[in-house]
Amino acid sequence: HRDDYRRWVLPEVLEAQADARGDQTFLTVIGEGSLTYAAAARQARQVAAHCARLGVAPGDAVAVLLPNGLDFVRLWLGLGRIGAVIVPVNTGLRGDFLAHQLRDCGARVVVTVGEATHAVAEVLPELPALEVLDLAGWEQAPGYDGPLPAASDTACLMYTSGTTGPSKGVLMPHAHCYLFGLGSIEGLGVTDADRYYVSMPLFHANGLFMQLYATLIAGASAVLRPRFSASSWLSDIREHGCTVTNLLGAMSQFVVAQPARPDDREHALRVICPVPNPPSHERAWRERFGITEVVSAYGMTEVNIPLYGRLGASRPGTAGLVLDRWFDVTVRDPETDDLLPPGEVGEIMVRPKVPFGFMTGYAGLPDATVAAWRNFWFHTGDSGVMDDDGWVTFVDRTKDCIRRRGENISSFEVESAIARLDGVAEVAAYAVPAGAEGTEDEVMLAVVPAPGARLEPADVAAHADRVLPRFARPRYVEVVDALPKTPTQKVRKQELRTRAVTASTWDREGH
Ligand code: ATP
Ligand code: MG
Repeated sequence: HRDDYRRWVLPEVLEAQADARGDQTFLTVIGEGSLTYAAAARQARQVAAHCARLGVAPGDAVAVLLPNGLDFVRLWLGLGRIGAVIVPVNTGLRGDFLAHQLRDCGARVVVTVGEATHAVAEVLPELPALEVLDLAGWEQAPGYDGPLPAASDTACLMYTSGTTGPSKGVLMPHAHCYLFGLGSIEGLGVTDADRYYVSMPLFHANGLFMQLYATLIAGASAVLRPRFSASSWLSDIREHGCTVTNLLGAMSQFVVAQPARPDDREHALRVICPVPNPPSHERAWRERFGITEVVSAYGMTEVNIPLYGRLGASRPGTAGLVLDRWFDVTVRDPETDDLLPPGEVGEIMVRPKVPFGFMTGYAGLPDATVAAWRNFWFHTGDSGVMDDDGWVTFVDRTKDCIRRRGENISSFEVESAIARLDGVAEVAAYAVPAGAEGTEDEVMLAVVPAPGARLEPADVAAHADRVLPRFARPRYVEVVDALPKTPTQKVRKQELRTRAVTASTWDREGH
């Protein structure tokens, strides 16, 4: 199916793999059980029949709030068979945030078990049109034999993580979802001999498509962890013989911060894909853990993963090279959209070379969709710089850029510099308004001390004075217990900014 675009459709991929390797294990969920390829395909047809009997038709949106586990995977495959749209909702959402997504996605039914059940029950009275679909009984359902969806049909409606503002619903056609998986296969060299360790939530494109769908397309096996745990990371990988895995955001930091052990190199990991991939971790991956291939990538829910590192040619700190069979990537002036020469920082702009290889739009937001596509380039809202060989380094989210004394400061670079101070577990740098006019920013840091470490704002400030250029030095330093995060471990900068602006203590107590 890789060479036939018409077959970039979830149920076609699944059926083809079930025919080719029915007895092979597709998935093992730690603590729950395993599925062969044949069982996965059969159960997908049964779940499809069960859902169809309860009224789910092709094109219908079905909201799903399930933990990482077999039910989630069966439902993804089953809804794919019908050609319905899975809306994987973040299971940590509560109240208004949850009600907003459930309303916005237009689903008539929601599937939930476990800890999210209660949160859903709380908002149901506000959503009179929404019903809970009971998965129980799917085992008794016969097969499903309705028509298959097409590569251009919407497979998934996924909400962005909401780090820069309110999350937006991203309409993801089958081909777009497939390309996420194919990107990992090409970027990380995944084959049917691999075991993919998946420890991210499946309601995020990285977990569901870059990892689990890559496994399915490659005919590999996945080992799914219900919830990421830094202390179990290596022991899981060792016990299950995993050969490839991805890390997102602070997950890398948490793994690297685990106490070193003599058996740190005893595992079968062939390649890891940390996003981002700070050069400060390179030694830990290579020397301590003995992982030779450290390949980074760059992407987003809307535009797939257009940049990947290259096996055998890792460049620490970069996000990758364009996967030019599938995407165009350029760095352009964010105001004029003019192409910038290598070495100049601008906005990363992308477009797909295959139809439906990107989102088809933000659900219910036609103006935002068209605005993002100005001059026929998708504006990522991220700034970056390309070198002469085409390697792109991520600089910052444009909205996270701090403007001070005429300089654009990358919060990403400030964070990397501060993170090198002993006793710092995590740090977020962000802009707070410098004065009433609000045209200039000041740099503010929120720093989380490492377990057992004593850290004073003055220590952090002194380190900043040593390692940062004058214009980038923080005006305020706050030591906090934890940073506000999305479930995929990204820092909610918007929340930090809002908190700083509404707080009254930091402006006197900051250094
Ligand atoms: P929202 O758009 O709601 O604020 P989000 O952008 O965090 O949420 P995602 O689509 O999950 O939602 O994440 C994509 C973003 O992740 C990119 O736009 C970029 O800012 C960041 N990112 C992706 N790859 C890298 C990388 N290699 N290095 C640093 N940041 C990256
Ligand atoms: Mg985004």
